[in-house]
Amino acid sequence: MAVRVRFAPSPTGFLHIGSVHTALFNWLFARHEGGEFLLRIENTDTSREVEAATDQIQESLRWLGLDWDGEVTFQLDRMPQAQEVANRLVAEEKAYEDDGAIRFRMPDEGATAWDDLILGRIEYPNEKLEDVVLVRSDGRPTYNFVSPLEDMLDGITDVIRAQDHVPNTPKQLQILAAIGAELPRYAHVPLLNGPDGKKLSKRHGAITVEEFRAAGFIPEALLNYLALLGWSYDDHTEVMSRDELIQRFSLERVGKSAATFDYEKLIHLNGLYLRTLPPDEYADRLVAYLREQGYDWHEDLVRKVAPLVQEKIATLGEFPGFARFFFERVPPVEPLEDGAVLPVAAEVLAQVEPFEAATIEAALRELAERLGLKPRQAFQPIRLALTGSKGSPGLFESLELLGRDESIARISAPGSGFGGASGSSAR
Ligand code: GLU
Repeated sequence: MAVRVRFAPSPTGFLHIGSVHTALFNWLFARHEGGEFLLRIENTDTSREVEAATDQIQESLRWLGLDWDGEVTFQLDRMPQAQEVANRLVAEEKAYEDDGAIRFRMPDEGATAWDDLILGRIEYPNEKLEDVVLVRSDGRPTYNFVSPLEDMLDGITDVIRAQDHVPNTPKQLQILAAIGAELPRYAHVPLLNGPDGKKLSKRHGAITVEEFRAAGFIPEALLNYLALLGWSYDDHTEVMSRDELIQRFSLERVGKSAATFDYEKLIHLNGLYLRTLPPDEYADRLVAYLREQGYDWHEDLVRKVAPLVQEKIATLGEFPGFARFFFERVPPVEPLEDGAVLPVAAEVLAQVEPFEAATIEAALRELAERLGLKPRQAFQPIRLALTGSKGSPGLFESLELLGRDESIARISAPGSGFGGASGSSAR
């Protein structure tokens, strides 16, 4: 039988990266097995917030390329059915009314056990299982009731979810058995910790898909990185395309212990992915990213600057800081120590023909020699006057791109002309 799995986020806000991790493992499993990956929103009401969160979840999954099969389903739609089943369980004396709520009668003896596909055999003594509420006194069914019920109704074969749901599993197994359902297999994937070993949270940095997107990570790098958290193909392969991940993924190689989310490693991997993009595609991504982030920098110029930064930045989010000077004048980060070289450099630049990186470089090197300066000594003030910064894209390429007039203007009057006269950003 083909496998069928589901990703069942609660619509409580932006999609947490830990949830995406779970979604990814479900998706890889389904695609590897040629099965189905369903998206179920575990809503219990229909407020505006829920609607916004639901849209957000789908948008994040789409951006990541985690496509789901069929229509999105909503837990709320199953409420009437859930109430019916609860009433049936009461009639069969498998559940009982208690202060207006309906509670499930857990067995007191024996144990509830399952063979977790990741954690192995797990056994809970039944005496430890409390009689869980199936339907609250206000008529709303609980997660521990509707979620397994939906798994049954949807024909879910494998419940793949985060390890914090392990304690729910014996309860859900008992409920499913009482309903007479065929039991799914369970696989509980490792949780994610921050670098300090504590549960990954806002304190550690970006945690929602939107935040990673806004910081300029690209989906293929993010997915590749998430796949390596708690799963490995072998003991050394790290860079894997989407297709390779699908081909190689198996639950057997998912580990048991919590994985550490290492932001540095993600940045490194993102840089690797960015550098290997074909130049045109790199420019496309950059243009799309800047538009999304509200920059109104001219697209043609962004495309011209793109090749100068592709080797140098690890996230698209570094672009504005690194390349802003192409779009507007940027005040120097520190005072010019010795600007004596600048007027002479301006004169030299006025003469260079053609005004191209190679000829500019030759002319400025010759100038440095003539003044008895080391290239670094001569070029650093020029760089600072031109870009505002001490680390920038290649100086000669930058001069070429800025053009003769603008370059000379900046070098002749360093520290003037700010305020966006030559360009503007929306933020
Ligand atoms: N809504 C639950 C969550 O977001 C899903 C739990 C499950 O997969 O059963 O954690």
